Amino acid sequence: MEYKIALMPGDGIGPEIIKEARKVLDATAKVYGHTFSYEELLLGGASIDAYGEPLTEETIAKAKSADAVLMGAVGADAKTSPWYRLSPEKRPEAGLLKLRKELKLFANLRPAYLYEALKDACPVKEQFYQTGIDLMIVRELTGGLYFGERKTVVENGIAKAVDTLTYDEKEIRRIAKKAFETAVKRKKKVTSVDKANVLDSSRLWRKITEEVAADYPEVTLEHMLVDNCAMQLICNPEQFDVILTENMFGDILSDEASMLTGSIGMLPSASLNETSFGLYEPSHGSAPDIAGKGIANPIAAILSAAMLLRYSFSMEEEAKAIENAVNAVLNEGYRTSDIMSENMKKVSTGEMGDLIIEKIQ
Ligand code: ATP
Ligand code: MG
Repeated sequence: MEYKIALMPGDGIGPEIIKEARKVLDATAKVYGHTFSYEELLLGGASIDAYGEPLTEETIAKAKSADAVLMGAVGADAKTSPWYRLSPEKRPEAGLLKLRKELKLFANLRPAYLYEALKDACPVKEQFYQTGIDLMIVRELTGGLYFGERKTVVENGIAKAVDTLTYDEKEIRRIAKKAFETAVKRKKKVTSVDKANVLDSSRLWRKITEEVAADYPEVTLEHMLVDNCAMQLICNPEQFDVILTENMFGDILSDEASMLTGSIGMLPSASLNETSFGLYEPSHGSAPDIAGKGIANPIAAILSAAMLLRYSFSMEEEAKAIENAVNAVLNEGYRTSDIMSENMKKVSTGEMGDLIIEKIQ
């Protein structure tokens, strides 16, 4: 069987890191006897330069016909780039937002995994964890406050603004299912995070989450209030496996959790729809300050490719092989500049990719 991957390198460091991720995918395919075919598509600023818009209909159609999308990053320095003299809906980021919507991606998965070799960069002291930090945030992406009705009115000379947090049971059920499916492949625990002592939407969230849990008897479900979760992520991060939460709580908690891992250059992500299709991308942006210098850390993109294999192609062993290769290279002391520390060996973007490939072969 041939698997079709749409590659969207994007802007800034995007092309540099996607090149390395593709090398790693090719090496993995060779070892495990798979055939991956690629279609390179323009997105963001690269698409503006070529076609005058950040995402074309043709690109959408081609992305939909692929089995998964691997993306770099979009955007540039807003102060200097001509792309930001365009109206907001014509800018690079608008292309990505539209693509996510077209692909109906409602679940955002962001792991926070602390590599042993990088633990000095973790702001949480080792005394707060024993076995390590390895958690996955499953964030609902299409509902909640960010998409609820909103308005600003002036009543009797006083301005008033309203945002609405809405979830229906269908939306809760589908994201809860993703979280449990994810937990089955991990440590079999879901912590559902809400504010059920105050919010009706959170009370419905709890009820539906418990209904879904009944279908996954091998997975333990616990509930936690969001304020407590924010605290627990720092004082006892290793208690978590999968954290399931709504859009805004997930936005905030995933940035908090990401800092546990040491560098943004290490963090992959996945955005999934109701099928096995997904869009995979590093959590970081296009890093225009270091673009073209060959110093960007490609590991976030490479680990995103590993997530692609795991979640879209059900290639668990292959995904693990990539993650183990990253671990081994870090253990040998190789570092890109963002994770460089004393006595370590500094390597370029391409050298890091090559080192990881060597471990896979
Ligand atoms: P966006 O709005 O697109 O998320 P951002 O403003 O959050 O972008 P990033 O592009 O993520 O910013 O960059 C933030 C900082 O992290 C920059 O100094 C950048 O150079 C650095 N950075 C981001 N990604 C990497 C990477 N892969 N390797 C090394 N440094 C990186
Ligand atoms: Mg950012």
